[in-house]
Amino acid sequence: MSASSSIEWTNSTWNPVTGCTKVSQGCKHCYAQRFSERFRGVPGHPFEQGFDLRLWPDRLELPLTWKEPRLIFVNSMSDLYHEKVPLSFIHRVFATMGDARWHTFQILTKRARRLGELGPTLPWKSNIWQGVSIESIDVAWRADELRRVPAEVRFLSLEPLLGPLDGLNLAGIHWVIVGGESGPHARPMKKEWVRSLRDRCRRDAVPFFFKQWGGVQKHRAGRRLDGRTWDQYPVATGV
Ligand code: SF4
Repeated sequence: MSASSSIEWTNSTWNPVTGCTKVSQGCKHCYAQRFSERFRGVPGHPFEQGFDLRLWPDRLELPLTWKEPRLIFVNSMSDLYHEKVPLSFIHRVFATMGDARWHTFQILTKRARRLGELGPTLPWKSNIWQGVSIESIDVAWRADELRRVPAEVRFLSLEPLLGPLDGLNLAGIHWVIVGGESGPHARPMKKEWVRSLRDRCRRDAVPFFFKQWGGVQKHRAGRRLDGRTWDQYPVATGV
């Protein structure tokens, strides 16, 4: 599965794995689950198995067929470090990313413990960025696991932001994305939480990307903060 993406901080998705299981409060209204389960039982549909974890070996080489450079979000519909994804398969994903040097790959996980264990042993290249999601201060430890990873760009996705993150340590972090939850039953995000993170990023010279306010009708709420958009990236991507 591949597609151009409406996610503000990327432009394509690549899903060599689909399906996942929930690990923390940030997963409560998981979009990937909602979308995947709509098609459970539909014969021949890519999500016939719903949100059950599935490996797709036939998709492994897809990025090599895309000739123009892209920013590619890896596994937007899963989590690469899910406990059911074999290490051998993770290595195959890394092999493709290492070969497709003209693209930039963005991996995002909530399985920070497994990332912290495997990360130091994986074959990182400068076009592979690694991030962790942190939705509240009780999972801020995920950033510590990320710091163990020798990726050229380490980033934090603070989305859906569910509380203030004033104590969050930004040492060794190269990019911060902030966003509110969207969709049915979206939980609210306070402006002061976002401002505080923006101000911390400015002070520590960490690029800051404000994705959205979110809410039930996210397009109405928009993505401006204090009169402007915040679309900073860690390095010039050229895509
Ligand atoms: S880790 Fe991500 S994909 Fe998996 S259930 Fe949670 S939000 Fe969904």
